[in-house]
Amino acid sequence: MNSTAPIYQAAEVLYANTDFSKLSWLETQWAAWYLWIGNPIIATGLMSFLLHEIVYFGRCIPWIIIDATPYFQRWKLQPTKVPTAQEQWECTKQVLFSHFTVELPAIWLFHPMAETFGMSTWQVPFPEWKPMAAQIALFFVFEDMFHYFAHQALHYGPLYKYIHKIHHKYPAPFGLAAEYAHPAEVFILGTGTIGGPLLYCYFRQDLHIVTVYLWITLRLFQAVDSHSGYDFPWSLQHIIPFWSGAEHHDFHHMAFVNNFSTSFRWFDRLFGTDAKYREYRAHIKAMRKSGMSKEEFAAQEQKLMDQAEAEGLKAEAEVEAYRYGVKSKVA
Ligand SMILES: [Zn+2]
Ligand SMILES: [Zn+2]
Repeated sequence: MNSTAPIYQAAEVLYANTDFSKLSWLETQWAAWYLWIGNPIIATGLMSFLLHEIVYFGRCIPWIIIDATPYFQRWKLQPTKVPTAQEQWECTKQVLFSHFTVELPAIWLFHPMAETFGMSTWQVPFPEWKPMAAQIALFFVFEDMFHYFAHQALHYGPLYKYIHKIHHKYPAPFGLAAEYAHPAEVFILGTGTIGGPLLYCYFRQDLHIVTVYLWITLRLFQAVDSHSGYDFPWSLQHIIPFWSGAEHHDFHHMAFVNNFSTSFRWFDRLFGTDAKYREYRAHIKAMRKSGMSKEEFAAQEQKLMDQAEAEGLKAEAEVEAYRYGVKSKVA
């Protein structure tokens, strides 16, 4: 190894066989972090926590600005329900509270867990981008499938009443509300995000934590964006037709039923849990084609939304009363 740089003098243990002259800038910084902290468990834990906080709140900032800018309201999915600054602040406090009380201790276990499953953490160089991209695609598909079934389970009587109801506080969600949830829900649905990489790692033994970080970053973008409440002409779902996006998940919050998946539309389509949503969209499309005035359209759209929300409140009450027979009819 190159022993000229003082930062690498402690590399005897972890990086004894690493040729630093062949590393990229980012790989060098990565090694420097592990060496600076000195303890891989703390280094991975701290980096994971910081990554989560920076990406999550960083991704929320543009949405906070958009919510405060009237120009963007033409693309708001529920235009009469723009969150107030006060509402967003209350939500932020709750999310921060759960990040520090529940996630921080859990994230501390991440390094030992990664090591147990054979995941590379401090190692450099990083893998090539091609296998990374393939692994991330696989994690997307796995998480979406896991989430589809787990989310439906969370709509079952007691699980809804005591756990998932918290996340449904906002019928018109906003970016910050993505992680507004009961700790048990964070744990259950988080399994879909972390479970894919761990399972993959267990069987293949060729996964680097940097790939997992990239996956988590994209997954956080997906979660925050799908709660944003906006559907722009340039939103991803208009480019990739099977991408769910905000338009899909916003309906789940508004109508309480349908659209249980995260990233993709195919599971809801396959199992028919998007029937009400598709009916609603078809209605809106027909209204657009009818040539009615802007005011008339807004009024009709509001009526449809009110109706969907009222039916949703009824469906929610049935679930909370554990009336499963009724629930299965409305779901
Ligand atoms: Zn739900
Ligand atoms: Zn949601």
